[in-house]
Amino acid sequence: MPFHTPTAALLGLLVAVPAAAQRPRPTPAPTPRRAAPAPPPAPARGPAAAVRSAPIAGIRYEITFDSATAQSRTLKVAMSFDVAGGSEPVLLSLPIWTPGAYEVSNFARWVSHFSASEGTRALRWDKLDPDTWRVHPERAGRVTVSFDYLADTLDNAMAWARPDFVLFNGTNVFLYPEGRGFDFPAVVSVRTEPTWRIATGMRPAEEPGTFGQSNYHDLVDMPFFIGRFDYDSMVVDGRTTRLASYPAGVLTGPGRAALWDQIGKAVPVLAKVFQETPWDRYTVMTIFDSGYTGGSALEHQNSHVGIYSPQFIGNPLLASITAHEIFHAWNVKRLRPADLVPYVYDRREPTPWLWVSEGITDYYSDLALVRGGIVDSSLFFMLTAEKIQGVADLPPTALEDASVSTWIDPVDGTHYLYYQKGSLAGLLLDILIRDASDNRRSLDDVLRELYRTTYKRGRGFTAADWWGAVSRAAGGRSFADFNARYVDGREPLPYGAVFPLAGLRVAADTVREPRLGLAAAPDSAGVRVAAVQPGGVAEEAGVKVGDVLLALGDLAINDPNFGPSFRTRFAHAEGQELPIKLRRGADTLTVMGKVRLVERVEARVEADPAASPKAVRIRNGILKGVP
Ligand SMILES: [Zn+2]
Repeated sequence: MPFHTPTAALLGLLVAVPAAAQRPRPTPAPTPRRAAPAPPPAPARGPAAAVRSAPIAGIRYEITFDSATAQSRTLKVAMSFDVAGGSEPVLLSLPIWTPGAYEVSNFARWVSHFSASEGTRALRWDKLDPDTWRVHPERAGRVTVSFDYLADTLDNAMAWARPDFVLFNGTNVFLYPEGRGFDFPAVVSVRTEPTWRIATGMRPAEEPGTFGQSNYHDLVDMPFFIGRFDYDSMVVDGRTTRLASYPAGVLTGPGRAALWDQIGKAVPVLAKVFQETPWDRYTVMTIFDSGYTGGSALEHQNSHVGIYSPQFIGNPLLASITAHEIFHAWNVKRLRPADLVPYVYDRREPTPWLWVSEGITDYYSDLALVRGGIVDSSLFFMLTAEKIQGVADLPPTALEDASVSTWIDPVDGTHYLYYQKGSLAGLLLDILIRDASDNRRSLDDVLRELYRTTYKRGRGFTAADWWGAVSRAAGGRSFADFNARYVDGREPLPYGAVFPLAGLRVAADTVREPRLGLAAAPDSAGVRVAAVQPGGVAEEAGVKVGDVLLALGDLAINDPNFGPSFRTRFAHAEGQELPIKLRRGADTLTVMGKVRLVERVEARVEADPAASPKAVRIRNGILKGVP
């Protein structure tokens, strides 16, 4: 999944999270038991008889992006195929989402100048539904459909053009025939400037600039960079690994060397979990944009696309996100919940398992940092404490519910809760398994078993698969209670009972610090206000949801040291005037608030020096990856 808020431990609070914590907490309602997952709803469509396309064959896509089309930020897309003739129309659809980015984007929105032809004759066409075109061939032969795709969105699931570069995803531009399955081969050819480069995980065909895949799922899982960018490769853990970075000249020298070093340290740690590296080549695709706040990345089976503020260069957070995305090549791209097998592209595909697919991936990204020696154990503890704090600051929300709800972007701050809380659930399960097996088994065994017994057998995992594997790793112990209370239910995670088994404890510090009473998160426009707490400083000053924060007093929001600076500057300023500079639509304005200090309890995770030898073994097992 693509979104990662920078963490205070690593970035010194790049985003305005200090104000996000004070929110009203609803009283938990009784927890309803989750019924068996309902079958996915039938796609909303036109006449039922029309949802199956006439058969097509010999599918080719041609993408044109050069310095001329770059001027209008446009990809020229052509798709050609053979038809057998007959009266049935060809129905061609674009996906509404990109797997991994669990939100509806409706890529057909960016299409214009659609046309269809057979030989020299223009064909009749119309729209069957918002993402489906209905084309009427006139006879047996070869049909070509063409359109322009506006590449104007800096988002790793979408398409974004600059005068010398484009990122696009297959979901944006590759039409598929409705109702004909996804097991069709296709060839993609790219036309671009002779001196521009192409980076993609797609398999090169013989002809230069031409690529091929044997099915649609793989075709749309391999994004492209086309243009001028830095591009080199290394052998990492026995496999060719490539690093593409745009713009050219930005990720160079020590920053590039550091990322390569971190990739070299993280990948073997991750591969050890599954004891298999399932790709021939892996491509790390990165964009650094000074207008972008924070960092976000999207996983694929043999690549990922990351978009970052240039402040990430040289920071361990870049390694953390990179490790997270590479771990996804196993966990979610291959080992995947049954609800997501196979991917469908014309509707939402919710699953209650994102706490495993995302949260446990995030746990392993922390483990890759500490086990790979990229950070030390104290920073691992700090990352864990931040996750505990992040969960405590949000309304009590079940892991399964947060997983399912992400599709509708809840405004209460729990949109991405399954990352932090799922990561912590992974740590707790890891400790419980290690405790039950005297550190001979771990969460690694669970993931490895499921990888072999589900993914390798061509299916997704179910609740029975998951909890069965957890229970087996823990010597037969039941986790029904854990599931009911902490995964399906909303009870607070049991750090106090479980951490001591690994020689860890959670302490709490009381801090008094300035609070704005708002929640903000970075998007492509900047740090945008997502929620305003009733009665808080921000509301009284007139800050509104949707405003983009620019500065508090003389502190710029995008100052890399914003969080600590904000807390220090106003630590003793109760009641002092606080100018809040923001952008609202096209206007820049300053509203006046008053500094308010709030007492807050802050979590801290530490090693217990008096832990038992068994607990120390478990703690070392987690930090060092043994067994
Ligand atoms: Zn993710």
